Amino acid sequence: MEFIVALRNVSKRYGGHAALADFSLGVRRGEFLIFLGPSGSGKTTILRLVAGFEQPQEGQILIEGRDARDLAPYRRNVNTVFQHYALFPHLNVFRNVAFGLEERKVGQDEIRRRVCRVLELVNLPGTEERAVTQLSGGEKQRVALARALVLEPAVLLLDEPLGALDQKLRHEMQVELRRLRQRLGITFIFVTHDQEEALVMADRVAVINAGRLEQVGTGEEIYERPRTRFVAEFMGVKNFFDVNCAISSATENCFRTARGQTFWANGAAPLEPGAPATLGVRPEALRLHAQMPQPAPKNLLEGEIVEAIYEGGSRRWAVKLEGGELLVAREPSVQEAGSSLERGARVWLAWDPARTLVYPR
Ligand code: ADP
Ligand code: MG
Repeated sequence: MEFIVALRNVSKRYGGHAALADFSLGVRRGEFLIFLGPSGSGKTTILRLVAGFEQPQEGQILIEGRDARDLAPYRRNVNTVFQHYALFPHLNVFRNVAFGLEERKVGQDEIRRRVCRVLELVNLPGTEERAVTQLSGGEKQRVALARALVLEPAVLLLDEPLGALDQKLRHEMQVELRRLRQRLGITFIFVTHDQEEALVMADRVAVINAGRLEQVGTGEEIYERPRTRFVAEFMGVKNFFDVNCAISSATENCFRTARGQTFWANGAAPLEPGAPATLGVRPEALRLHAQMPQPAPKNLLEGEIVEAIYEGGSRRWAVKLEGGELLVAREPSVQEAGSSLERGARVWLAWDPARTLVYPR
């Protein structure tokens, strides 16, 4: 069986509002798949459908090859970890983790063995008797994870489980979740609105927008070759130009803006002359020059620095062009750089045509 979970043309409406529209995606056995999208894009709805808490109006959900329509949530071999830990405050760690096993009438000796083992797995050995109310946020989230893992599901659904943690703890948990998944071989379906989190953890990222799948691929594919303007913007592309195609060949396209600026792109599909498109350029693809570079690069713009921000590992500049457009450039900070590139300085911005992203309109 190719996919452990598959959604086929799934639509889910609440009242007249489509939370998911004709949504299809297969999740591979053992992979770490991340649904990435802004708030309200339908991420939680997908997990609730897979878990069986909701039913789609149209389409089909397959779990381990079986139509899930008639499978009650508790029979789905799937477990969910939520953003808010949903632990029982009046039970200690052991009883919280043991809860699902007790419901399934597993024997006491086996429960003890499995709870101890899973607490070691999530790095909380020896905490069995502690009250969950006295745990830190990160520890609570680990207990929630242990409670889901102890049932040994084939698929673990995680709905923004790190959302409530501070940044340092988040990073630690991201690394830990990755390791855990590699060790256990369980399929992880993880939801987040944080692009960095998705890049750090996922085998594949599925970007969703308003209930539709925009693109699915490795983090690198999504980051380097965003297929739509939405994905590009979501992955941090800041500079966009509305253009029309001027010259098109198999290897390169030349575009012109309404104000007569000319830009080149390599590697994009050929377009009809005159065809409207939007071009995107990442901040880190732009190079700043204090003098006009010679020979002149194919993509070159002149402007004035209106903002210069030192970010530690990098510097970020906002540059205003003649026509008033603002561009954002980012370069790694090196000791001697930056000095002449301060607010008010004239600069030239250049980029490689291979780094121009092209979105036909
Ligand atoms: P996300 O998790 O990506 O933030 P959701 O899946 O929670 O998005 O929601 C998708 C859309 O469906 C949103 O517009 C949301 O308001 C709507 N929605 C979700 N659950 C319900 C519900 N139970 N009743 C009505 N609308 C809902
Ligand atoms: Mg949600």
